[in-house]
Amino acid sequence: MFKTMSIRTRLILAFSVLLSLLVAVAAVSLQRLDNLTATTQNIVNFQARRALLAQRINQHAQAEAIILLNLLQTTARDERVKLYAALDSEIAASGKAVSDLDMTMLSAQVQGEIDHVSDLRQRYSVLLQETVELIEIEGTASARIYFEDRTHKVLNTLLFDTKSLEEHLQQMMQSELEQLKLAAARARQLVIWLAVAALVIGALLAWFIARGIVMPVRSAVTLARDIASGHYDLDVPQGQRGEIGALLRALRTMRDSIASREAKILRLAYVDPLTNLPNRTRFTELFEARTATDSGALVLLDINRFAPINNALGHAVGDRLLCAVATRILGVVGSDNTVARLWADQYALLLPGADRDSATALMRQVIDAVRAPVPIDGQRLDIEVSTGIALYPQDGQNSTTLLRRAGLALAAAKRRHEVLEFATDWPDGPSPSQLSLIGEMREALQRGEFVIYYQPKLHLATHKITATEALIRWRHPSKGMIPPMQFIPFAEQTGFIRDITPWVLRQVITDAAQWTRDGLVVIASANLSTLDLRCRGLVQDVARMLAESGLPPDRLCLEITESALMDQPDLALQHLNDLSALGLKLSIDDYGTGQSSLAYVKTLPVNELKIDRAFVTAVDVTPKNAAIVRSTLLLCQELGLSVVAEGAETAEELAWLTVNHCDLVQGYVVAKPMPLPEFLSWVEKFNAS
Ligand code: C2E
Ligand code: MG
Ligand code: MG
Repeated sequence: MFKTMSIRTRLILAFSVLLSLLVAVAAVSLQRLDNLTATTQNIVNFQARRALLAQRINQHAQAEAIILLNLLQTTARDERVKLYAALDSEIAASGKAVSDLDMTMLSAQVQGEIDHVSDLRQRYSVLLQETVELIEIEGTASARIYFEDRTHKVLNTLLFDTKSLEEHLQQMMQSELEQLKLAAARARQLVIWLAVAALVIGALLAWFIARGIVMPVRSAVTLARDIASGHYDLDVPQGQRGEIGALLRALRTMRDSIASREAKILRLAYVDPLTNLPNRTRFTELFEARTATDSGALVLLDINRFAPINNALGHAVGDRLLCAVATRILGVVGSDNTVARLWADQYALLLPGADRDSATALMRQVIDAVRAPVPIDGQRLDIEVSTGIALYPQDGQNSTTLLRRAGLALAAAKRRHEVLEFATDWPDGPSPSQLSLIGEMREALQRGEFVIYYQPKLHLATHKITATEALIRWRHPSKGMIPPMQFIPFAEQTGFIRDITPWVLRQVITDAAQWTRDGLVVIASANLSTLDLRCRGLVQDVARMLAESGLPPDRLCLEITESALMDQPDLALQHLNDLSALGLKLSIDDYGTGQSSLAYVKTLPVNELKIDRAFVTAVDVTPKNAAIVRSTLLLCQELGLSVVAEGAETAEELAWLTVNHCDLVQGYVVAKPMPLPEFLSWVEKFNAS
């Protein structure tokens, strides 16, 4: 019952009990004190007085005897008269003491003694009177005899009896005093016992109350600590009433709301709200939670050209497409593997235990499943995906490295229009020395460390140099001449190419304008990268530079790689059309490395096609390369495109190209890239021969 009481009730009850105990102790003490006081008063008022009265009676009797003895020896009458007066006053005082003693209420036994003394006193008074009368009548001699015979005996008895009465009364007083002492000691003991009992009861009450309050409060504190450390499945004790019950109920509510809020926060932090897949954070955590010795594959999967789908059909369709892809991936990979959406249209898969072959087999199934047309709003969307696969532990140990490596493989897959690439087959990202180069690029441009080299293009039919390609180099103050492949890809990744290209274009246009003015008829080519083609100000920049330099537009050629046309093809095509409209020439660079077909090239406003070095190298001895180059040459003739063979290094290759009617050759067999002055004198000499 005590447990079910509120703390308030318990405290009130406990203090009430304690107060009652204190009041009881005080009341008993007071009552005992009153009793003791009454007894003391009784002793002071009666016993002492009685003893005193008995003593007085004795003293008066003695005094009377002394006066009588004096009287018996006093012969002179007037002397005796004085003694009579003294005797009278003693008798009167003695009589008063006797009657006073008689008045005090006493026990029957003592009353008997007093009556006896009173009788004796009476008899003694009579004898005394008779002795006095004898003195006056017969003289002191016969009176003395009378005294000796009669009075003296009674006097002795009186003195003796009053003395014993006095002693008796003294004894009575003494015994009362003893009783008083006993009563006081008993009262003291009682009060001590009561105080001790009050103390014990108080202590017990305090202990019970403290226990009744502290125990539930302590368990509430433990519970609060458990909640704070994230254990929400613990039972909160039920059935407590009062304040503790309210506290526990509040804790339970707090626990439930924290748990639900935390679940919500965890969901927000770990789950992609669109697809309900784990997000990047969760994926990274799951990856890092595996045992260090595990092996497996980390795959990045990306929808090709998702942005145009999103833009053309709207974000709602885009979202549903992302969900459909998620469902399809999940349908193939099973529960042992993890699928997450990292961002936008990029998914990540964790395939524990997978090796190169099993990862390839599974990913081919995933790709086939995702490729099947997705019906959305009555439309059937055909999508393609690219995947990059990093294997652990060989490609990296941590998620950052593996995601980066898988990203590089994915980028390679996209570039090569392949569906699947392994990180192992693609070199890692920038090395520390390349990273420091990236940081230095901006300053290098300001300090004028970039230079342009020109590589001639030989027109095979006329055996004249009719064109040249401008190729950038970095003349680094400490690292020497750095070739473009060591910094251009990073300039493209970081966006710094947007600063480099205008500088190259200005340089090339200025140089070409100058040699044109000097009478040299050589078309200058400059390279454009993917980002340049997306840059809105590109066309105006080129037009302005041409106008400022006075270079006829048809003396400038811009080289574009196929992959540059694949990203945002609409914008790229628009810019190509605008550039073509300016009157300058356009060239497809590195032809054959991508997947664009000649039919596709036909739709572009290009004038030239550069066959990649990979097909030109050993073309004279490699039938496969020869077949590709030959068919390309034939088709380009049909389409009216001039063909440049890149990277011819041997006289045999050059001869083969000449026989097969290639238009132009750019390669070491003709000349290596060279600085402008060298190039100009070289061309002059070459064309003159
Ligand atoms: P690219 O546009 O395909 O340029 C041709 C590359 O082939 C040049 O390499 C050239 O030196 C090299 N080459 C020419 N003939 C031969 C040969 O017979 N044998 C061999 N082994 N190589 C030959 P380079 O100068 O190292 O440039 C590499 C790439 O860097 C270029 O390939 C181009 O994509 C890029 N690049 C160079 N300059 C620029 C630039 O100013 N802007 C942009 N965006 N990219 C540039
Ligand atoms: Mg080029
Ligand atoms: Mg090339």
